[in-house]
Amino acid sequence: MSDMNTQMADRYKNNFLKEIEEQAEMGEWVKMCMQCGLCSGSCPTNFHSGWDHPPQEIFMLIRAGKREEVLNAQGMYMCTSCYNCYVRCPRKVPVTHVMHGIAEYAYRIGRAPKNQPSMHLSKTFWTNATKNGRVNEVRKCRALRWVWSRPVV
Ligand code: SF4
Ligand code: SF4
Repeated sequence: MSDMNTQMADRYKNNFLKEIEEQAEMGEWVKMCMQCGLCSGSCPTNFHSGWDHPPQEIFMLIRAGKREEVLNAQGMYMCTSCYNCYVRCPRKVPVTHVMHGIAEYAYRIGRAPKNQPSMHLSKTFWTNATKNGRVNEVRKCRALRWVWSRPVV
């Protein structure tokens, strides 16, 4: 485990919900989920093989304290920000933002999969835009092609 990951695991011991509430952006919304499944059923990409756990399952796992299962999941990286879930959630849970918040937290503590494609796309896009003042498509595509041609580990 990375240092940061170990520190967080020690700090929150068996309270993964509290860890997410305090550390992941908008994580405090997870407890509002009533497990109706509308978000997962509305998600246009959840049929993809990378969706091991759609949002409803991620939220259930967090509340069940399944830290390893959540931090090892791919689901939060598969979100395309279409907002179907957010619009339809009867509890008004900002599902999109929570999913990104969990992904960012996993990255911050060193638990995001190496070369995860959508994480790499975000980082490449951000670096490219902030470095050049605009997106340089040639450099961006070159950087993405190099990583996307390799398996995710
Ligand atoms: S739609 Fe909202 S309440 Fe229903 S499972 Fe998803 S997050 Fe929970
Ligand atoms: S915003 Fe993300 S999680 Fe929500 S329905 Fe769209 S792809 Fe699925």
